[in-house]
Amino acid sequence: MGAVRHTKQKQMVYDALRALDHPTATEVYERVHGEHPTISRGTVFRVLNGFAEGGQARRVTLFGSDTRYDHTLAPHAHGRCRVCGGVSDVFLPDFSALSAEAKSAGFCIEGCEVEFYGVCAACAKTTGNMRQGANER
Ligand SMILES: [Zn+2]
Ligand SMILES: [Zn+2]
Repeated sequence: MGAVRHTKQKQMVYDALRALDHPTATEVYERVHGEHPTISRGTVFRVLNGFAEGGQARRVTLFGSDTRYDHTLAPHAHGRCRVCGGVSDVFLPDFSALSAEAKSAGFCIEGCEVEFYGVCAACAKTTGNMRQGANER
């Protein structure tokens, strides 16, 4: 019975992780807790850690931000919006070329942690009204 409950909790956390965009553990907890008030912060954090360690999610460490979680496992970089602070996925078109280049130098790339900064699509639309861009999130 415990296992079933455990599986359900994992599913709830994973659903929240997918629904949110690169959330912090606290953001995941707030969403899951909003729908299932009985789940504890400790459980959510433990499940997220399990995902990161088990390879179902990756931890994303961006400059000046709490650790975030990402359900997209393919190697990709992140774009940080300087207006709203949102995180967008940036897939490097020549990642395999980059990987081959590194390999020839004797280094095996397993992932990357690259952070670009700029303005996200939503904020670009509201250029000139930065306050609104911030409120939309
Ligand atoms: Zn933005
Ligand atoms: Zn990502």
